[in-house]
Amino acid sequence: MKNEIRKWQIPKGSGFAVSLKVPVAVLLVVFGIIPMFLCTQVLLGSLRQSQTDSRMIEVQNQCQILSSKMTRTGYLRGDLVDGTMDSEIQALADVYNGRIVVVNRDFRIIQDTFHIAEKRFLVAEEVIRCFQGESSSKYNKEKHYFAQAIPIYDNTPVKGIEGVLVITASTEEIMSLMDAVNDKAIFFQLLVALVLMLAALAAATILLNPFREFQKKLNQVAAGALDTEIVMNGYRETRDLSKAVDSTLSKLKEVDQSRQEFVSNVSHELKTPITSIRVLADSLMSMEDAPVELYREFMEDISDEIDRESKIIDDLLAMVKMDKSEAELNLAQVDIVILVKQMLKRLRPIANKKNVELILESIRDVTADVDEMKLSLAVSNLVENAIKYNTPGGWVRVTVDADHKFFYVKVADSGIGIPEEEQDRIFERFYRVDKARSRSTGGSGLGLAITRRVVLMHKGAIRLTSKDGEGSTFILRIPLNYIA
Ligand code: ADP
Repeated sequence: MKNEIRKWQIPKGSGFAVSLKVPVAVLLVVFGIIPMFLCTQVLLGSLRQSQTDSRMIEVQNQCQILSSKMTRTGYLRGDLVDGTMDSEIQALADVYNGRIVVVNRDFRIIQDTFHIAEKRFLVAEEVIRCFQGESSSKYNKEKHYFAQAIPIYDNTPVKGIEGVLVITASTEEIMSLMDAVNDKAIFFQLLVALVLMLAALAAATILLNPFREFQKKLNQVAAGALDTEIVMNGYRETRDLSKAVDSTLSKLKEVDQSRQEFVSNVSHELKTPITSIRVLADSLMSMEDAPVELYREFMEDISDEIDRESKIIDDLLAMVKMDKSEAELNLAQVDIVILVKQMLKRLRPIANKKNVELILESIRDVTADVDEMKLSLAVSNLVENAIKYNTPGGWVRVTVDADHKFFYVKVADSGIGIPEEEQDRIFERFYRVDKARSRSTGGSGLGLAITRRVVLMHKGAIRLTSKDGEGSTFILRIPLNYIA
């Protein structure tokens, strides 16, 4: 049931994700279209304003010319009777699509180009102000027209104001012209926006090309082509990214290689005792009437091989367990001297058998935060080796010491020593200096690898000094208090 459910789970990272192309294209479009739109609107606005302003100035000038003409001809006093002035007023009103009203000093309208208000009175604020010498000009934005009041002076030397010329003119024509321009601008903007969108999509595709290439290469790697050259120099980002992936891949390759090596070593190590057992058993079987002593001797050898096989399996299991539970240390305050004493007690019979003297030297009492089982295994591997690779009549000295930060366990022996060129490699899994000798002593080749792993788990260090033929000294240095 559990597996069924798992089968239907969506694989990690396969949910919906927006392509990088979209934000890149949107950004390009936004930064292209919005400024263009704003720019056009501002330009159209100021064009409309300047058109209206220049129309107002033009009308004002024309009216002023008309007003001076009226002054000169004494129009308001009725000096001119041929009607030319009236037609000029009418013409001006028609040209600007507006209405001109002339008011005399009594506020009576004496001329209206619309001919609907003649003889009536116009007592508006603008007219009153104009009589006081203040001409006015007003623009009504909503209704699109402007109104101007211009004084008409008399032609006496005193220059009093004898009338006011009021003109109202529509700007509708300017507005419709501007609307047409606006329509064209909108059409043009839409066209540009469309072109910009296509260009942005194309640009985003081109800009992201190196990433797509990179992805293709990664797919090749995922398909198993681990040797694919993935460092790309397209952009700095792709180069850095591909370099990081490349170094991760190299590390993975190393791990894979060492895993393969380990597996082949394990199979080899496990096969060796079985082959020996098979050879021994076969030769026994091939012998007819073999004496009982020979049987016993062969059976002892077979039993030794079985012991070796089981030691290898035990060590392998211990190591796999440690590899798996990276941070799993069963920490407790442990008396290191007692731990070492108990371990030496266990190993004393083996030492006696090999005629090797075991000496414990504890310089001070030490209690530390350690995993008792693991540390005991690490130290006993060292002592066992010191006994195994020793000479009859030799000695093994274990010293326990500490300072304010670390404790030290030193295992020195008077054994065969380790050649200098081998000293770096003996901590590797299954590495042995003298293959034949090590096997014959029942070693799995994993002891030192396990010890080093335990020490590293405790954030400690291990050091070796040795001279070929004279003996070896291993020193463990482990913090008294474990710091995660
Ligand atoms: P083994 O099970 O073969 O002893 P280890 O990992 O414990 O494996 O040790 C690796 C090799 O290092 C041994 O095969 C041996 O050649 C060498 N070695 C370890 N300890 C000593 C020592 N005290 N004196 C000499 N050689 C040693």
